[in-house]
Amino acid sequence: MKPERTPGRYIREEDLRRLPGVIEYKPVARYSYSAGQALSEFLRGLKEGRILGKLCPSCRRVLVPPRVYCEFCFIHTTEWVEVPGTGVVETAVVSYIGTARERLEKPEIIGVIRLDAPGYREGSFDFAGLFHRLCGVTEDDVKSGRVIGMRVRPRWRPPEERRGSMLDIECFEPVQP
Ligand SMILES: [Zn+2]
Repeated sequence: MKPERTPGRYIREEDLRRLPGVIEYKPVARYSYSAGQALSEFLRGLKEGRILGKLCPSCRRVLVPPRVYCEFCFIHTTEWVEVPGTGVVETAVVSYIGTARERLEKPEIIGVIRLDAPGYREGSFDFAGLFHRLCGVTEDDVKSGRVIGMRVRPRWRPPEERRGSMLDIECFEPVQP
């Protein structure tokens, strides 16, 4: 059965204001945000074109994106380990809504990627997965399910454009056999 297309609808500020019970309130908030120990190092790595994970000394998994403790063994992770950046698409969706909740005329394909990292068992769900854009795949690849299990690798932005952000990776693209 062909899946029904649900294009979504752009929600404008004035639509929200018109809702009953909605009051106008503009908070003044100053804050600084810390990405934390593990994520900060991970972001620094991205700026250098490297994907870093942390090793759990007990179960020997390399956690990527990195965490300071292993959620299975309840102990601190230790060494930093660089992973190749290649991986497999676990799931994907065609998105008509952008990150600023705007409607996209040209939809993007977003996927969850299980990066190749030591210690993971095939078919298990003991990985965190990386949420990112997929490029070089079509809507039909998603709708037909062909994208699931596809081997992908990061397409990096040029070094001078990298900012220590997830978007230093432009997208993940299929690995050509
Ligand atoms: Zn562990």
